[in-house]
Parts: sequence; structure tokens; C-alpha cells
Amino acid sequence: MQFIDLKSQFDRIEGDVIDRIERVLRSQRYIMGPEVAELEDRLAEYAGVNHAIACSSGTDALVASLMAFDLQPGDAVFVPSFTFFASAESITLAGGTPVFVDSDEDTFNISIESLSEALARTKAEGGLRPRGIIAVDLFGQVADYDSLSAIAEERGLFILEDAAQAFGAQRRGKKACSFGTVGATSFYPSKPLGCYGDGGAIFTDDDEMAALIRSIRVHGQGSDKYDNVRIGLNARLDTMQAAVLLAKLDIFDDELARRSEVAGWYDACLGDVVKTPAVADECVSAWAQYTVLFEDGAQRQSVVEALGSAGVPVCVFYPIPAHLSTAYKHLGYRKGDLPCCESMAERVVSLPMHPYLKRADVEKISSVVKGALR
Ligand SMILES: *Cc1c(COP(=O)(O)O)cnc(C)c1O
Repeated sequence: MQFIDLKSQFDRIEGDVIDRIERVLRSQRYIMGPEVAELEDRLAEYAGVNHAIACSSGTDALVASLMAFDLQPGDAVFVPSFTFFASAESITLAGGTPVFVDSDEDTFNISIESLSEALARTKAEGGLRPRGIIAVDLFGQVADYDSLSAIAEERGLFILEDAAQAFGAQRRGKKACSFGTVGATSFYPSKPLGCYGDGGAIFTDDDEMAALIRSIRVHGQGSDKYDNVRIGLNARLDTMQAAVLLAKLDIFDDELARRSEVAGWYDACLGDVVKTPAVADECVSAWAQYTVLFEDGAQRQSVVEALGSAGVPVCVFYPIPAHLSTAYKHLGYRKGDLPCCESMAERVVSLPMHPYLKRADVEKISSVVKGALR
């Protein structure tokens, strides 16, 4: 059994992937070949936004977006602590300061209450200037952008949607990557839509932002290729990876439907014994992860050991919330500052989740979990 089964997926699309890669090899247009523009058109259409800009990773998608917002020293960007480290790291890389916010135990996403408190606190202390919010669509579920947009609008903040785990997810009929001023996703191989290396994309409806981000993607290029008009990055997506993604996009909706089916099997098997992930009203998760919560660290430990003995691969996302990471020690956060995310870090386990998981596998995994809890 695999945690994420890329082999079964490759078996399904092998012919198409190899044809597309061969076309790139024969054209030798390895950088910004026609596949990149074709992919960008398809991504924009899929997400329902005006512009999609392919780039080199999810992290670079976040950094390039934040560079376009022109963060200055002392600018605060509010971000949930319970996320992959890059959500916060990108703020520091772009010259701002992360202000860590607690998360909600039901959705694993940013807590609106904790965000309001953090905003009030930051204003009262007067040191940092609130500039924006990075809302993360964790484990595949879109955050509560109705509340987030209201807060952002009232305070003049930007929203950067970190949809690295949520490409394909929906909220009230709108697709992930379309909720913020700018949206960013990742095509890291294990994400819901993954390539065969590193990759990512940036989404926006704003023409000016799109032009700025396209310039930042290639060393701050101006209309003259060798007149660099700002500081940028080398953050392009390889043509080869675009070719792989084009092949994968053809089966992506079918894969999302299968992921939802797998999640439904887990819900039915485990709903009575552990806290299973809640999907908010009118939302469709991309199910990057199926993450359950145990009562405490000791209970988690015994279940993880039982699953290990039974040959079931599991992961803990994330054992150390970003506000307690060594890299952010200097910001002075302490254990107890963000109680919900600290508690989740001790109690979460992500179970195998991919479109090719069989019902019998889910039943086997669930019976091991139940056995360990007995
Ligand atoms: C994976 C991930 C990223 C970074 O994406 P990379 O492509 O690995 O750079 C950022 N944020 C979140 C929430 C992620 O899960």
C-alpha cells in the first residue's frame, strides 16, 4: 500500500505523457516552450480567473506574489501557523514579517476569531503595519473567504490564497486559486495536481498584478529583455513539466471524484471512532490529505505504531507549528500562544489518500485504527 500512488496514475496516462515529453524533446524548447502557454490557458480557464502564470514551485509562486505586493520592512502578513513551512517562509523571503494565527479544529484552516485578535493586537502594539493575509487551503479544503474578504476589505489588506494543496477544490461554485487578490498553487508531485518535479502557478484577475508577476518570474524583465526594470527571480516552469501537467489535467476531474469517494469510505468507517475531517457547507475538498484527529498524543502514538506494524504508511502533517519552529525563534512566540494548532500538531495523522485507493484498503486501514483504539 502506498501513501500516494503515483505509479497507478502513470500506468493510466503513460502513452500520453511519453508522447508529450517526446514532443518537447524533439522541439528542444525546454524553456517557455508552447506547452507552457497552453497550460496557462487551461489553468486559467479551470480556475475561472483571467490570468494563470506557471512557475517553478509553490514556494516561488508565494514569493513572487509577495514581491508583487512590494512588502517593506515592518509589513505584517497574517498567516496560520498550522501549515507547511513555506506559507510563512515566503513572507520572510519577500521582506515582511509573519504574524502567526491559530487554526480551526473542524476545517484545519485559519481561525477568523484568532485573526481578528491578532489584527487588533498588532494595531495596539504599533510596531508592525498589517499589509495582508495568507489564507491557506489546508489539506485540500478552501478557507472561509466570505469572512476573510470582509476583514481584508475593511482593513485594506491583500489576500494571498495559498492553494498549494487545493487546486481543484471549490467553495460555493467558485474554484480554489480564485479567492484572493492573488492565488498560488504547487505542482509538487504529491499535490492533487502534481508534475514530475517542482512546479507551481499563480492566479489573478488583476491585469496589472499579472504583468508584474510575469516580469518578476524572469529577473524583473522589462519590455526590452535585457533592460531589467525591477528585482525578480528565475521562477519559470520547465516546458517538460508543463507537458506532464497537460496530460494529467485530462484525468484530473475524474481523479478528484475518486478522491471524494475514498474520503466518503473513510468517513463511513471511521466517523464513529475518531474526529474525521469536516467539509464546510457548499465546499468540495481536493482531498490532498485525509487527516484525522485523535484525543491526545498518546492515543495517536499507539495508532501510528499499529498502522506501521500493519504496513500502512501514514504521515503527520504538521508536527511543529511554524510559530514554534527553530527558524522563527527570534519572533518570541511561546508554547501556549496558539493553543488549537499546538494541540492539533500533537493529535493529527494523515492516512493514505489518492484516487487509486481501493475500498478494501480503506476498510483494512480503518480496522487497524479501530483495533488500536480498542
Ligand atoms: C507544498 C506547499 C507549499 C510549497 O509548494 P512547493 O511546490 O513544494 O514549493 C506551500 N504551501 C503549502 C500549504 C504547501 O502544502
